[in-house]
Amino acid sequence: MDSHSVPAPSASLPYPEFLSRYRDKLKQMFHDRADANNLALSRGLPPFVMREIRSCDPLSVWIPSEYGGRGGKTAECIAMLAASSYESLALSLTFGINGALFLQPVGRYGDESVKRAVYHRVIHGKAMGGLMITEPDYGSDALSMKTSYTTSGETHHIQGTKHWGGLTGWADFWLITARPADSEGQLGRDIDFFVCDATQPEQHVVVEEVYENLGLYMIPYGKNLIDIRVPAAQRLKPESTGIKMMLDILHRSRIEFPGMAMGFLHRIMDEGIRHCRERLVGGKSLFTYDQVQERLARLQAYFTTCSAMCAFTSENVSLADNMAKHSIPANTIKTVATDMMQEASQSLLQLFGGKGYRLDSFAGRATVDSRPFQIFEGSNDILYQQISEAILKTMRRAKEPHLGRFLGEFEYSQRVADRLKGLADFQVDFSQPQRKLVELGKALSRIFSMDLTARLGERGFRPDLIESALKIFQTDVSRILTGYRGSMEESVEVDYRDGGDWLALGYPGVPG
Ligand SMILES: Cc1cc2nc3c(=O)[nH]c(=O)nc-3n(C[C@H](O)[C@H](O)[C@H](O)COP(=O)(O)OP(=O)(O)OC[C@H]3O[C@@H](n4cnc5c(N)ncnc54)[C@H](O)[C@@H]3O)c2cc1C
Repeated sequence: MDSHSVPAPSASLPYPEFLSRYRDKLKQMFHDRADANNLALSRGLPPFVMREIRSCDPLSVWIPSEYGGRGGKTAECIAMLAASSYESLALSLTFGINGALFLQPVGRYGDESVKRAVYHRVIHGKAMGGLMITEPDYGSDALSMKTSYTTSGETHHIQGTKHWGGLTGWADFWLITARPADSEGQLGRDIDFFVCDATQPEQHVVVEEVYENLGLYMIPYGKNLIDIRVPAAQRLKPESTGIKMMLDILHRSRIEFPGMAMGFLHRIMDEGIRHCRERLVGGKSLFTYDQVQERLARLQAYFTTCSAMCAFTSENVSLADNMAKHSIPANTIKTVATDMMQEASQSLLQLFGGKGYRLDSFAGRATVDSRPFQIFEGSNDILYQQISEAILKTMRRAKEPHLGRFLGEFEYSQRVADRLKGLADFQVDFSQPQRKLVELGKALSRIFSMDLTARLGERGFRPDLIESALKIFQTDVSRILTGYRGSMEESVEVDYRDGGDWLALGYPGVPG
């Protein structure tokens, strides 16, 4: 074995032991040695905290065993992210970025020499990596990015501006996306990914501005100027096109979101139940109020559905699979998991009352920290539209315009077809305005999530939790489809002030 394949110290531990040591370390760091509120409220992370956490080798779960890691088993990756997000969503996102947006892409498409060096430095040098796709003028429309590269001999010269790359200024490695430029400066349509070793002088990324991000204080964000030269071996080698490689990378990352959501929702449930039991209102425990029970039952439904997503991903996704074609499960899981995170934290804040609005309250931080998950890696509005478009395309091909009949046969909804009777008993229009596509996508993704929940039930998960989650999601689907089938035509009046001033209408003692 050469020096680059020396295993991580904890690589051979049985997973239950690895996980329980990791959980104990997090508890010690976030509760015993440092005050969790202070950690959540200050930017960055004290170096000793990260050093101690990294001593448990959490990132080794993403690394194949032949390179000294724990083997890249999806269930281990998901469980590590969940253990992290129970204590800190920002920590979980930090490790999610490292794994899904850096180590996994390098593992699938990196040159052997690059993989070896990267894995070694991550395991033994505690290095970190992130991904830069977004540019100030190109976020949702990332394929139009302007960062470009030219090639001379064995070197690629990459130039451009990127922003919002998580771990700005911290990461030792970056994956940077760019389009090829010809001698006239014309940009090609495909996208390439380059591994950048920011510790090398020619590959140094300049942080032009550090952002004051609203939440996730632990993670630095900002604007970066790219003018670097990287060896040819550091370009990722796609199986076909770079755009398909990007889809594979993003779909795999999206389908792994439930890891980050799981611990977060688990913690919200624990905090919600504890608070409602302890808090007395009107002489009785908050827990006994009917509306409070409704909120807690919904949190529990989210916990169950997220568990179903974790189980699905763990069972069906491996690093060997190309995920480019799996847009439906990936986009469903990303959108619904992140909507559940935001709705759960909003509900917890409501239950906490005024206490929740203190800057140092867990509920308030959770609300702000979970919000960008609905924006990054595909804005949820756009992903809902894409889910509808993919389903409508499949229905058109199958010459089946009836939604209920289609869903009764479809692999991601057939287990819950009985529950959709009456709800999906209509023909769809194959050409619909965008807002309708988004609403339909919301309903469909919740139906597919119900199917995942039913699968979890078949595997032996607690039946009362499964039934309760299915009922709550069924109610949501019914509400969304009622709105979808109604009129949705309103548009904004830009000159709305004209005739839109209530005070100008005149009131007693105040003429109009
Ligand atoms: C906390 C955080 C972390 C991030 N981490 C990373 C990272 O690690 N690496 C990285 O490269 N980027 C990262 N990003 C950037 C993120 O991916 C972009 O913010 C996102 O893609 C949206 O791009 P934008 O901000 O330019 O918004 P815009 O593209 O301007 O979109 C704003 C909104 O407009 C609407 N919209 C846009 N297009 C359409 C459309 N076609 N139809 C209907 N509505 C539309 C949507 O509501 C969308 O949310 C991060 C962002 C945040 C906030």
